[in-house]
Amino acid sequence: MLDADFFRRWMTVTAASVDREADRLTALDSPIGDADHGSNLQRGFRAVRDALEKEPPATPAAVLTQAGRLLISTVGGASGPLYGTLLRRTGKALGDAAEVDERRLAEALRAGVDAVMQLGGAAPGDKTMIDALVPAVDALGDSFAAARAAAEEGAVATTPLQARKGRASYLGARSIGHQDPGATSAALLIAGLVDASAD
Ligand code: ADP
Ligand code: MG
Ligand code: MG
Repeated sequence: MLDADFFRRWMTVTAASVDREADRLTALDSPIGDADHGSNLQRGFRAVRDALEKEPPATPAAVLTQAGRLLISTVGGASGPLYGTLLRRTGKALGDAAEVDERRLAEALRAGVDAVMQLGGAAPGDKTMIDALVPAVDALGDSFAAARAAAEEGAVATTPLQARKGRASYLGARSIGHQDPGATSAALLIAGLVDASAD
C-alpha cells in the first residue's frame, strides 16, 4: 500500500531528478521553446520539496494537492498549470484514504492526465507531455517500472513529431527533429514512482 510518506518521497525524488536534469530540460526547450523549462520546474519542485519537508501532509491526496497548488503558483510558463492540474486532480481522485493501492493510483493518475488534456487541449501525438503521460498511465496497471519505460519511450518518440500545442507549435515543421522538453520532464515524474518505492 502507498501512504502519504510514499507520495512525499515521490515528490522529493522528482525534485532531485529535476535538479539533476534541469540543464538538459532547458537545453531541450532552447531550439523549440524559450529555454526555461528546466529552471521553471526546478523552481516549482524545490518549493514543493521545501513545503512537504516543513509540514508533511497526512494523506496521499493532501500531498498531491499541495504539490499541485505550489507548482501552479511558482512555475512560470505553460507547464506550471498543467503539472499543477495533473497533481491536484490526481490527488482529488484519491479521496481521503490514508493508503491507496497501485490500482487506485493508476485510476487517479488517469483522471489527472485527462484533466491536463482538457485544460491544454492536447491529444497524444501533439508533441507535449501528454505523449509521455498517456503511455505511462496505460502501463501503470503492470508496474511502476513498465510505466517508467513507457514514459521514456513516449518522450523519445516525440522527436519526429510536429508540435501542435504550446510554444513549439509556433515553429510549425521546424519543431520536427527535437525531443519535447515537457514529455522529457513527465518521464522524470513517472520515473520518480520507481525511485520512491525503492527507497
Ligand atoms: P513555456 O512554453 O510557457 O515556456 P515550459 O517551457 O515550462 O513553458 O513548458 C513547455 C512544455 O509544456 C512543452 O514542452 C510541452 O510538453 C508542455 N505543453 C505546452 N503546452 C501544452 C499543452 N497545451 N498541453 C500539454 N502540454 C503542453
Ligand atoms: Mg519554455
Ligand atoms: Mg516560458
